[in-house]
Amino acid sequence: AKQDGRNTFRFFEPAMDAALQRRRRLEHDLRNAIRKHQLYLDYQPQFGLSHGDLTGYEALVRWWHPVEGEIPPSTFLPIAEETGLIVPLGEWILKTACTYALGWPPETKLAVNLSPAQFKTQDVYALVRRVLMETGLEPERLELEITEGTILQNTDAVIETLTKLDQLGVSIAMDDFGTGYSSLSYLTRFPVKKIKIDRSFIDTLGSNPQTSAIVSSIVGLGQSLDVTITAEGVETEGQAAMLKHWGCDQVQGYYYGRPEAEVPSDPLEDIPLDA
Ligand code: C2E
Ligand code: CA
Ligand code: CA
Ligand code: CA
Repeated sequence: AKQDGRNTFRFFEPAMDAALQRRRRLEHDLRNAIRKHQLYLDYQPQFGLSHGDLTGYEALVRWWHPVEGEIPPSTFLPIAEETGLIVPLGEWILKTACTYALGWPPETKLAVNLSPAQFKTQDVYALVRRVLMETGLEPERLELEITEGTILQNTDAVIETLTKLDQLGVSIAMDDFGTGYSSLSYLTRFPVKKIKIDRSFIDTLGSNPQTSAIVSSIVGLGQSLDVTITAEGVETEGQAAMLKHWGCDQVQGYYYGRPEAEVPSDPLEDIPLDA
């Protein structure tokens, strides 16, 4: 009924109308894609920086559209979030990733992203518990990546959900750290085990002294709070060397490994770990 209501407006400029039409079409196609297996997951490796050991993989959703080809998550996830399709999509992602991770060595962790909309529209704790039971993946192997956007909304309910997940053995990572508006006080109220420094800071390491100061401070914060620090978007040897010098715990990025649809049987081959 909401959609029909919007349809009755006819004040759009032609360009805006075209954008809206594409969006409607994508929404329709996404609904089908979830059923028709046009979606798949890539997995990007994460490494411990001091020993170069593989610690886990982050699952990243992909959509190969039959006509348009690859559509980036930054295009289709907002549509999924606004239409509620994120609920079946999020469930498919979690189930598919947990099932795939069963084939990995037992110490290898799986990181799965959750969007703020999932916390608004469903009982995330119930979902995670059910998927872990159905797949048989140990809760200790699952890490859920949330953003400050999730923390900011509906805080009491989110605290309760995250606390129950923590008690279940699932760990919580704060994604895109440093980009959202927030006070750091949530770190004392939420069971956050890991902080992922946003790629935008790593990008300018070396060229901008201010980001160096920020990144090294976040690494220091992690050490005093006993929170694991992961740097994401590491692309160069120089960035890796700086992060190692400061004592950053983990790294993820094209320098170490791109997201791939299949996890190689010997993931440590060909990876430059002695930066
Ligand atoms: P994110 O969670 O911050 O994921 C990291 C993004 O950085 C991924 O983009 C990844 O492909 C990219 N990346 C990794 N290493 C490098 C690097 O060295 N250089 C550069 N330039 N990029 C790198 P992607 O796959 O396009 O995902 C974009 C965002 O979409 C993700 O950001 C996440 O917020 C969201 N997303 C992706 N998959 C899922 C999912 O399954 N569920 C949910 N809720 N969100 C997802
Ligand atoms: Ca992430
Ligand atoms: Ca991130
Ligand atoms: Ca991001």
